[in-house]
Amino acid sequence: MQTKIFQINSPNDTEKIEAAAAILRNGGLVAIPTETVYGLAANALDGEAVAKIFKAKGRPQDNPLIVHISRFEEVFPLVKAVPDMAVKLADAFWPGPLTIVLEKTTLIPHEVSAGLDTVAVRMPSHPVARALIKAAGVPLAAPSANTSGSPSPTSARHVLDDLEGRIDAVVDAGKCAVGVESTVITLAGKIPRLLRPGGITPEQLEAVLGKIEIDLAVFSAPSMGETPASPGMKYKHYSPKARLIIVKGNLPEFIDYVQKDASSNTAVLCYEGEQEMMPVKAIGFGRLENPAEQAQRLFSALRQIDALPHVQTVFARCPATRGLSLAVYNRLLRAAAFEVIEL
Ligand code: AMP
Ligand code: MG
Repeated sequence: MQTKIFQINSPNDTEKIEAAAAILRNGGLVAIPTETVYGLAANALDGEAVAKIFKAKGRPQDNPLIVHISRFEEVFPLVKAVPDMAVKLADAFWPGPLTIVLEKTTLIPHEVSAGLDTVAVRMPSHPVARALIKAAGVPLAAPSANTSGSPSPTSARHVLDDLEGRIDAVVDAGKCAVGVESTVITLAGKIPRLLRPGGITPEQLEAVLGKIEIDLAVFSAPSMGETPASPGMKYKHYSPKARLIIVKGNLPEFIDYVQKDASSNTAVLCYEGEQEMMPVKAIGFGRLENPAEQAQRLFSALRQIDALPHVQTVFARCPATRGLSLAVYNRLLRAAAFEVIEL
């Protein structure tokens, strides 16, 4: 299959938006830009179309997808009820990088919810994403547009590197602004629970809802045989091909540690501006004092590591666990398959 590329920089580029939307309406797969990462979209109401997403990505069948809408009203047919808390969250953070899990109706095919009785819904803020959903006339199921397990794509180039020839089209609207996936919160239980940290911080959620629970899977690997509330959190994910190890300590300690293992097979993932101090090849992922920049660059930095010849081991600086840094930490932890060395 030849993957078409649509360059669309404005929601007013109606001809190209219509062409991409027609592919979606006809059951095809189109990678679309959002403010978080590129998503691999299909008609969320068409189980057969959604099944193609799993095939193209090599995604485990038990990992459900997020359904994207362009207007708030579109949530009603998808879920059994819209609780007050969902309305409050939507008022505060939609359109934007927040996904809300609610009890689903039978309109949602089992391919989308992967057998759960809930559905994850988001209204993205990217103007081109919204225009595409609107033009398609159906909600769009879309996980990140990468091969399952590899770093999420923050540019159309990343999408093509993984999925060229396996999907019908990609809409190229440049780099993603947020750079990590949406925050996932479930309102399906008694107390709101954060399942995945992302572009909206726990502090922002608590300012609207009061105290929320943080799922254990945010900070740690699930124990053997356990099914986490958000199935996606159980996998090693976002990983470069090299072995990634998080090394927790201050800068001098980190440099000392890397020095001991320095070789042409080792590299470092560090904050911008620290590269020159490192004894081995180093890739920066944003400035220490700028978590938004770290989020925006993390996945691209992980892909850059794969492009370094001969590198087998990568030592990464350890992000903080507050605010937006929690999302960066959570992704890096999975990229490292939970391997952390404390100095
Ligand atoms: P991705 O869009 O590739 O980042 O994957 C979607 C994420 O949302 C995964 O971590 C899923 O486990 C999570 N997710 C989707 N639907 C649900 C749901 N109904 N309940 C809990 N988590 C969900
Ligand atoms: Mg993903």
